[in-house]
Amino acid sequence: MPEPVAKSAYTKDFPFPARVTENRLLNGPGSAKETRHFVVAIGGSGLAYKAGDSLGVFPTNRASEVEALLGVLGVKGDEKVILPKEAEPIALREALSTKVALGDPSRRLVETLAAKATDPGERAQLIGLLMPESREALVSWLYEREFIDLLTEFPSARLKPQELVDHMRRLLPRLYSVASSPRAHPEEVHLMVAIVRYTTNGRDRVGVCSTFLADRVEVGVTPTPVFVSHSHFGPPDDPSRDAIMVGPGTGIAPFRAFMQDRFALGATGRNWIFFGDQRSASDYVYREEFEAWKGEGVLTRIDTAFSRDQAGKVYVQDRMRENAAELWSWIKSGAYFYVCGDAKRMARDVDAALQEIIGSQGGLNPSEASDYVKLMKKERRYQREVY
Ligand code: FAD
Repeated sequence: MPEPVAKSAYTKDFPFPARVTENRLLNGPGSAKETRHFVVAIGGSGLAYKAGDSLGVFPTNRASEVEALLGVLGVKGDEKVILPKEAEPIALREALSTKVALGDPSRRLVETLAAKATDPGERAQLIGLLMPESREALVSWLYEREFIDLLTEFPSARLKPQELVDHMRRLLPRLYSVASSPRAHPEEVHLMVAIVRYTTNGRDRVGVCSTFLADRVEVGVTPTPVFVSHSHFGPPDDPSRDAIMVGPGTGIAPFRAFMQDRFALGATGRNWIFFGDQRSASDYVYREEFEAWKGEGVLTRIDTAFSRDQAGKVYVQDRMRENAAELWSWIKSGAYFYVCGDAKRMARDVDAALQEIIGSQGGLNPSEASDYVKLMKKERRYQREVY
């Protein structure tokens, strides 16, 4: 049975003001990625976690975006606004910094601006976007924009501070898989975060929470509100069971935690990792740690797939297929199978490869292979953490 998790006074509704004590770039020179390793100090909080859990982080928006919004509204920022779930009115600057999301404007905002625009050209454009035949175009037009774009593109439609925040969604915390085990780091949580930066509609955009951690949290100084999100995802309860872990990109984070945990426990089960990213020279994160575990015999195998190291793209599911017989022999003898990372394509492709391997190696037809996988899920021998 998993060990009981102690209760802390700190929760999602009352997060712990932690300090980040390390912020380190994991990628090497020439990488197209920006993936960072963070250490969050939780000593004294009473927060308890296990390998497989996630850490929730409440971010703060970029000050430059907040100031830009105050600028187009033509206000100072100390105007009070009322937000749902807030007992007291709060200053607009604080609301825009920590309480509401500055992205994802909705159709309702376009309707409000259309009703308020005094410039005939702006009004016509807004009404055009709201026509039934523009439905799909409006979705992609909005996808390219944040609140600041709409307010600057339609300056004749003036919004009051309260009207603006009434159109904004709550700024939500983001979850990150813990990349450490409390058996190795009882006072810390390690995270591995892909930093989101891109450009749309001619403006530089950022992922709110990943850049909050990367750019706006000063190491050792900035209070960073966090909570533990407990999960059923986790290493086998029985340390003698084998584990196959498929975690490309940031999907490797919980498996670093699993490895630390099993190493600290002296787990006798075998461990097999499938890892992948773009280039081995710059994107093979935590390489020394994996090699050390391999040297110690704790990590039985690690198979890597670097998609851009050769002319044809190679992915983790290709490495699984290349090792179909060995994979089947592990699964047949009761190994746990874990997948973490990209939900859009990777998890589906890995699932298809798993079913195919079980079918071909186990001599099962597609429906029998699918039943086998269903049984693995029911027995919690097939676990996924995908996002
Ligand atoms: P946001 O502000 O939420 O922005 C992301 C959005 O930006 C995207 O949804 C998309 O709409 C838009 N966008 C991004 N790129 C582009 C582009 N090129 N063009 C147009 N639009 C674009 N993440 C990790 O890095 N490591 C983890 O270990 C991890 N573990 C997770 C565990 C769980 C259980 C879950 C649910 C999620 C996990 N995530 C992890 C994802 C993480 O929670 C955040 O979703 C992620 O960091 C992005 O958040 P953000 O606030 O930086 O970006």
